[in-house]
Amino acid sequence: MHEYTPEIDDLADDLVAFARARTRLDPIALDHPRTEAELRASCGPTVTPAGIGGNEALRLFREVLAPACLSVDYTKYLAFVPAAPTEASVLFDLVVGAHSIYGGSWIEGAGAVYAENEALRWLADLAGMPASTGGVFVPGGTIGNLSAMVAARGHAQARRGGNRPDRWAFLAPETSHSSVDSGALVMDADVIPVAVDDRYRMTGPAVAAALDEHGDRVAGVVATAGTTNLGIIDELSTIGPVCRERGVWLHVDAAYGGAGLAVPEIRPLFAGIEHADSYIVDPHKWLFAPFDCCALLYREPDDARAVHAQHAGYLEFLDAFGDWNPSDFAIHLTRRTRGLPFWFSLATHGTDAYADAIRVTIDLANDAAQQIEASEHLRLVVEPSLSIVVFERIGWDAAQYQAWTEQMMEDGTAFVVPSRHDGQPVFRFCYVNPRTTPDETASIIAALA
Ligand SMILES: *Cc1c(COP(=O)(O)O)cnc(C)c1O
Repeated sequence: MHEYTPEIDDLADDLVAFARARTRLDPIALDHPRTEAELRASCGPTVTPAGIGGNEALRLFREVLAPACLSVDYTKYLAFVPAAPTEASVLFDLVVGAHSIYGGSWIEGAGAVYAENEALRWLADLAGMPASTGGVFVPGGTIGNLSAMVAARGHAQARRGGNRPDRWAFLAPETSHSSVDSGALVMDADVIPVAVDDRYRMTGPAVAAALDEHGDRVAGVVATAGTTNLGIIDELSTIGPVCRERGVWLHVDAAYGGAGLAVPEIRPLFAGIEHADSYIVDPHKWLFAPFDCCALLYREPDDARAVHAQHAGYLEFLDAFGDWNPSDFAIHLTRRTRGLPFWFSLATHGTDAYADAIRVTIDLANDAAQQIEASEHLRLVVEPSLSIVVFERIGWDAAQYQAWTEQMMEDGTAFVVPSRHDGQPVFRFCYVNPRTTPDETASIIAALA
């Protein structure tokens, strides 16, 4: 064991103490963004030829920089999709950093990759996918969707004997996530929007009709299991069989909603997901893992390897040990073993604790819906789905929504931002933090009066 210098030794104590204190903070403050000019005035330049020293850099982070970042795990942070990583996962993230593991290949990261694969197996089993299923943790749903779409296109092109249409297209519900459009843009492909039914779901018959019209250039269908805005799950039970019959790749974007698979009472909402050729879920959203972590799974990992594995003379050595090289399954080569904090927390707490914690947040959403229905000034826009509640502040225009949000953020009393539904401004609560309480919901509702 080599000796720390006294400076690094002190710093180690301070850093570990700081991390420990942050994971135990209660209550957590929302904090507040600052302008670049404000930060420059408080911090000055920090990267200098001589260095400012670890103590000073840590002081600046603690006193200036960290408080200028919103705390996503603040219990009244209900905007977008927040995060609520477990202490076990966050602390293990420090260990992952300390360990210098290269997570791209089996030969270099076997033990870590084994553990990541255990966590991926749990997610594959939740979806009812076969034993062949495997994949990799990537930074987020955006890269996960793009990687799966590239695999789908490779599969479609191989099925056509290498022939490609003038332009490839993906079918996706009109409600699909912006990352599907962004992925198609990168691929120079089109997204053909499929109309949703009166419950905002894409259905099998709608997919079949779109395939009748455009089938000759469709590389895959991208369904959503839990839209980000409303929490809606497409009708996978009818979409799955249509894709299977026609031999079309089905990718399910469950970046947010996939966590719901762990809760037996709502598992039926996902029926049909077992037909997926690929699916993603972000543990950094509703599965209590730190950023950045998306699980990407393929029914037949060879389909992904065929398009994603990189080949070079200096990499051939790795292929000789090619049991399972995570780099082969997405758009990346070097990778952090970002699935390990999630794995460690799962191993620590057990999967039942996950189901319980997710259930708590679903209950929070249902409770919020009841409070909204009982109020005079708010109106539910749709029934809550998964852990999302969307509602209207009766009588407010878009400017009033915006002003209220800014005031609450300024005061540090809640982070709830306006969204849009059917062209109208709405508010939206997204619960992923089991430490949020119904009383906190009540305080936000009161502040909206
Ligand atoms: C959040 C989200 C994404 C994008 O995931 P990132 O991790 O932010 O890249 C994709 N699809 C859905 C449904 C999402 O909720």
